[in-house]
Amino acid sequence: MGRVAFIGAGPGAADLITLRGARLLAQADVVLVDALVDPALRELAPGARWIDVGKRGFRRSATQDMINALLVRQAQTGNLVVRLKGGDPSVFGRLDEELAALAQAGIAAEVVPGITAALAAAADTRRPLTRRGRGRSVSLTTAMTRDGTLHASHSADTEVFYMAGRQLGALGRRLAAAGWSGETPVSVVSRAGCADRLHSEHRLADLAQAAMLHNGRPTVVVVGAGATGVMPAHPATTTETAILQPTDHH
Ligand code: SAH
Repeated sequence: MGRVAFIGAGPGAADLITLRGARLLAQADVVLVDALVDPALRELAPGARWIDVGKRGFRRSATQDMINALLVRQAQTGNLVVRLKGGDPSVFGRLDEELAALAQAGIAAEVVPGITAALAAAADTRRPLTRRGRGRSVSLTTAMTRDGTLHASHSADTEVFYMAGRQLGALGRRLAAAGWSGETPVSVVSRAGCADRLHSEHRLADLAQAAMLHNGRPTVVVVGAGATGVMPAHPATTTETAILQPTDHH
């Protein structure tokens, strides 16, 4: 009987996987990989059999049941099966369903965390998700509910919405209905962590304007305290500037 390691691949660029993830990936016999994972990661496990189960790639429409069954079948043949997921496996990755399928089949599983898109977006834009005194809580929310309707909330100082890329205008209206003011800062980042990432900033009332720019790309929407750029605490004084200059001793 084999085992399954769920590994977070990070948000895009191959070098954002963890060391633990990379080491385990190198031992894999089989890798079941999602659509948003950087193909360059294949170099970390060149000997493994790579199976693309991305909802777009795998026979065009891999259902979750098919993926669960494939995981179980591969592990039963005595392999180390790596389930490589974009970002972090525990964030909007349907990890609960895959863990349940393995538990039911009596197959051991471990989870290696990864960098979720919200964290990559914060790093790319140098906009911390928490701010001392006014950004005390962060929520990760999927904008899309199971039945395909759009959902918004106002429960944390900074809210990061996943899976809203196609409906930014509608998300703006839902956020307003949830009590956010039209002036609330919103930061939109697509393909965070990748070389071709894009960032735009808006007032909530103008969020629809982001739609064209990020069209068709994986996108997170950061709303509230964590959406604003960080300003200098106070302008550098002449003395501070002088200290930063290389001193000439001659
Ligand atoms: N497990 C993943 C999320 C999977 S759900 C994670 O932890 O990041 C897919 C959604 O994640 C996309 O619709 C988008 O909202 C977001 N996403 C994934 N990769 C992204 C990236 N590189 N930049 C911005 N958003 C991304």
